Amino acid sequence: MASCIGRTKSGKRCHALPGPSGYCSMHAMPEQAESLEIASDEARRKAAEDARNNTMLTFAAPKNPEDLKSILAQSIADVASGQME
Ligand SMILES: [Zn+2]
Repeated sequence: MASCIGRTKSGKRCHALPGPSGYCSMHAMPEQAESLEIASDEARRKAAEDARNNTMLTFAAPKNPEDLKSILAQSIADVASGQME
C-alpha cells in the first residue's frame, strides 16, 4: 500500500496515508502542519502552567478550626483580588 512520500522530523519515511499529491495531509501542507504543531505546543505549555498554578493554590489540609478559618479567609481574599478562580 502506498504511503506518504514525505519524511518525518526524525528523517524516517512517513507512513501516513497519502492524498492526491502523494503526501499525507500533514506533509501536503507543511506550513499548516507546523502551525498546528505550534498551537498544540502552546496548549501543552498552558496546561502545564495551569497544573503548576493549581499546585500552588493547594493548601495544606487544615489541622484545626483555626487553620480552616485562616485558609478560608485567605481563599476569600484571593478570590476577591482575582488571584483564584
Ligand atoms: Zn506524511
